Amino acid sequence: MCAKILDGRKISKEIRNAIMNEVHHLKDHYGITPGLAVVIVGDDDASHVYVSMKEKACQKVGFHSEVYKLPKETTEKELLTLIDELNHNEKINGILVQLPLPKGIDENLINSHILPMKDVDGFHAVNAGKLLLGEESFVPCTPKGILELIKRTEEDLTGKHAVVIGRSNIVGKPAGVLLLKENATVTICHSKTKNLEKHVKMADIVVAAVGVPELIKGDMIKDGAIVIDAGTRKVNGKLVGDVAFEEASKKASWITPVPGGVGPMTITMLLENTLKAAKTQCE
Ligand code: NAP
Repeated sequence: MCAKILDGRKISKEIRNAIMNEVHHLKDHYGITPGLAVVIVGDDDASHVYVSMKEKACQKVGFHSEVYKLPKETTEKELLTLIDELNHNEKINGILVQLPLPKGIDENLINSHILPMKDVDGFHAVNAGKLLLGEESFVPCTPKGILELIKRTEEDLTGKHAVVIGRSNIVGKPAGVLLLKENATVTICHSKTKNLEKHVKMADIVVAAVGVPELIKGDMIKDGAIVIDAGTRKVNGKLVGDVAFEEASKKASWITPVPGGVGPMTITMLLENTLKAAKTQCE
């Protein structure tokens, strides 16, 4: 078997074009411009690159975009004050605080200070709880993008065995919940899982969200499986995923590349969530 590529860049472009058209419509007919504020604290290079990608993506679809670049000495109190202001700012429909935050700032406290209706990252306990309960919520962008990619295969997910590797609150856990909602049978693996290989070998759908380059080898992939690789790690200046792509491509029916798979979808889902926030807040 030779896997078909789930091209995150191409799919993202289609979705972003649709968002751009909707933004034009909202502006022309209702005078609404969706607005996103991104807050970054400190000088982590990778985080600054992500923030600039988000800013450019917002501008391209016609959103109002504000970026707050704060020094690493910023206190928790100062950050909370800025979030208060953004919570009350009518131009801003969505607020995203770029993670990780410097030591001494409690990420959970910061995320829970964002109004749930502006929590376009979906990290607030209210949105996480609603996702678990199957209620309408903001779904974290990476797992939302992962599900969108899986749906593009047009496979019926009912009864499929999905194995998610990674149990973080921002990727693995919500990805498992979303797949469960699609009636897949879900196994979530993590660093304490015994015999990871045995679990992965049984998977019709593999979602890798670990951050260990090429942890998932080709011989662990069942013939015809859908393989989604969210992992990203720089190795010798090159971005490498959690899945050994060449080997896995020979077994899978569909596979995402790294880069160009889950990454672009994450930003696209942030745009979708911001558009949704703008529409809900103006109802
Ligand atoms: P994280 O918080 O570090 O979580 C990693 C998970 O992997 C943990 O649950 C950990 O288990 C598990 N794990 C670690 N080593 C393992 C092993 N050898 N076998 C099985 N499980 C193992 O990371 P994250 O934030 O979820 O991100 C995961 C990956 O996705 C990273 O590479 C990150 O860069 C990438 N990512 C990409 C995007 C994107 O837009 N493309 C967005 C977000 C994240 P324990 O819970 O037991 O520690």
